[in-house]
Amino acid sequence: MIGAMQNPIPYQKDRPIIRIRPMKGTSCKICTHELSSEPVLEINKPDRFEAFIGVDEKSFKRTWHRCSSCAVLQAVHYNGMDEKLAQISDKYYSIDFGSLTSGSRFERIQKIPDEKSDNYHRVRRIGDFYRNWIQSFEKSSTPSILDIGGGMGVFLCKYLEVNPDFTGVMIEPDRESTTHIDSSFPFEFHNRLFSGQEEYQRDFDIVTLNKVVEHIEKPHQLLSDIQKVLNKKHGLLYIEIPDEMNVYYKPSSDNSLGSLHHHLYNPHSLNYLLESTGYTVLRIERMFEASGKISIYAFAISSSAEKQWLTH
Ligand SMILES: [Zn+2]
Repeated sequence: MIGAMQNPIPYQKDRPIIRIRPMKGTSCKICTHELSSEPVLEINKPDRFEAFIGVDEKSFKRTWHRCSSCAVLQAVHYNGMDEKLAQISDKYYSIDFGSLTSGSRFERIQKIPDEKSDNYHRVRRIGDFYRNWIQSFEKSSTPSILDIGGGMGVFLCKYLEVNPDFTGVMIEPDRESTTHIDSSFPFEFHNRLFSGQEEYQRDFDIVTLNKVVEHIEKPHQLLSDIQKVLNKKHGLLYIEIPDEMNVYYKPSSDNSLGSLHHHLYNPHSLNYLLESTGYTVLRIERMFEASGKISIYAFAISSSAEKQWLTH
C-alpha cells in the first residue's frame, strides 16, 4: 500500500523544483537562529578522539561558526562525526589516560602547588563570593554545595577542606574517572546523570558546573533542572566554561577547541544562555587561569530569587 505523501511540493510548470536540505548543524543550538556560514576557524587535523574513531586525515575538517543572534561559537562536524563521537562517550577517560588509574591522576592533580592550581583559585573565588553574598540573608546553619559533573572530585575535596562548615554532594556519570572515590572522601557521591531528581531537591546554597556546559549540545534542560535544587532565596549557581578567545589565542590543537566541546562563549552569549533559562546574572568575568586556560565564569541566581532579594 502506498502511504499518503507528506508535505507535497506544488509543481509549477515554469519553475524548476529546488529542494534545499539545510546542512545539519547550521542553526544555533543555544538560540535556534542561523549560524554564520563563514567559519571563524577551520580545523584540518583530527584530535585524539576523532583519531580514535579513525577518520580520513586528508579530507577531515571541523569548523567553528558564530551565531548571528546570541553570538555563541558552535562547532560543526562533517561526515556524521558528531554521531560517532557520541558513540564513544563512555571511552573518553581511557582514550585520554590509558591505563593510568583515576586514583593516581587524582593524587597528581592534588599535589599541584596552590599558585599553579586552577582548583585552588576556583575554591577561593567561590568561597569569597558566597561569603559576601550571604551577608544579605539569613545564613543556613549548615551550608551545602552540589558539584555536578565533578570529575575526579579534586575541586570539591579542596572546597570542603577550606570551608569545613559546608556539606558537599558530587554527581559524576563517568565511572572510569571516579573509581578512587570511596567512603573516606568528605562528600556524598553519586555515579549518575543529574536531572533534578527529587533526592537532590535540598535547597543547596551553591551549585557548581565546572567545565561541564561546553560538553552538552543543548544545556537548557540541565540549567532549568538546577533551579529545582537551589535554595529558593539565595541559592547561587556558579558556572565556568572555555572562552571564545581560545580561537584567537591558542593553537587549533588546544583542548578547548577539541571535538568534545559544542560551544565556546563570550560574556554576551553566556549571559544570554543564563537569562533564557531563568537566571539573573550577578557577575560574569573573563579570566586567564593559572594553567593558561582562557575561561569565563558567572555567578547567577534564579529569576524568582531575584525578586525576593530586591524586595525583602
Ligand atoms: Zn545563537
